[in-house]
Amino acid sequence: MTSPQQLLHQTLLLDADDTLWENNIFFERAIASFISYVNHRTYTPQEVRLHLNRHEMATIQAHGYGVASFRKSLVRCFEELSEGPVTPQMHDEIVSFTAAISAEEMELISGVAETLEYLKSRHSVWLVTKGNENEQRGKLERSRLAHHFDGVEVLAEKNTAAYRALIERHGWDLSKTWMIGNSPKSDVNPSLAAGLRAVFIPHPHTWIMEEAELSMQPDGERLVEIANFTELATIF
Ligand SMILES: [Mg+2]
Repeated sequence: MTSPQQLLHQTLLLDADDTLWENNIFFERAIASFISYVNHRTYTPQEVRLHLNRHEMATIQAHGYGVASFRKSLVRCFEELSEGPVTPQMHDEIVSFTAAISAEEMELISGVAETLEYLKSRHSVWLVTKGNENEQRGKLERSRLAHHFDGVEVLAEKNTAAYRALIERHGWDLSKTWMIGNSPKSDVNPSLAAGLRAVFIPHPHTWIMEEAELSMQPDGERLVEIANFTELATIF
């Protein structure tokens, strides 16, 4: 059902991880297995997690996002916390915690396929994700959502400069282009700073590295906040 308030012929840029499909929960499960494997004598699980967060920040800086970086972080964190050398068996065990992440059947967020079908009939719809190019494209294939998109952009980082470059490359009209996603840090704040409009769809298990305050309060004009993906059909 459309209402007169609904917008037409917009350019919708959709985030992927934790917006279209579950992603972070698989990393969280790997981290839980890792922390119980570490079973540290003096550090609490929370302290082990803080060490891991630091390693993650460093490996992402050096190697970008993705499962390979995540594995490096786990191994380096283990090396730091374990008192003896890391044996090949230990290494394999740690790596095995991450196997489920790339093997996992894609778990779409409720209503995504139907809502995308509707959105693409009225708007230009793009996937704008960050991470490792092959991993992100592989997930899109496995999700069976690829045919809904007019184009796909996999960015190394989603910051204001990256959004500006994207807008310039495609010649998108700022007044009709929306970035839609679950991350204040990657989807909302930098896209608003680049002059886009934004829709924030919070996810209860957003990655700790994506947590940030929204740079402005949702005003229903430049920034809209909705509770779930299917509500996009009430705006667009
Ligand atoms: Mg996301």
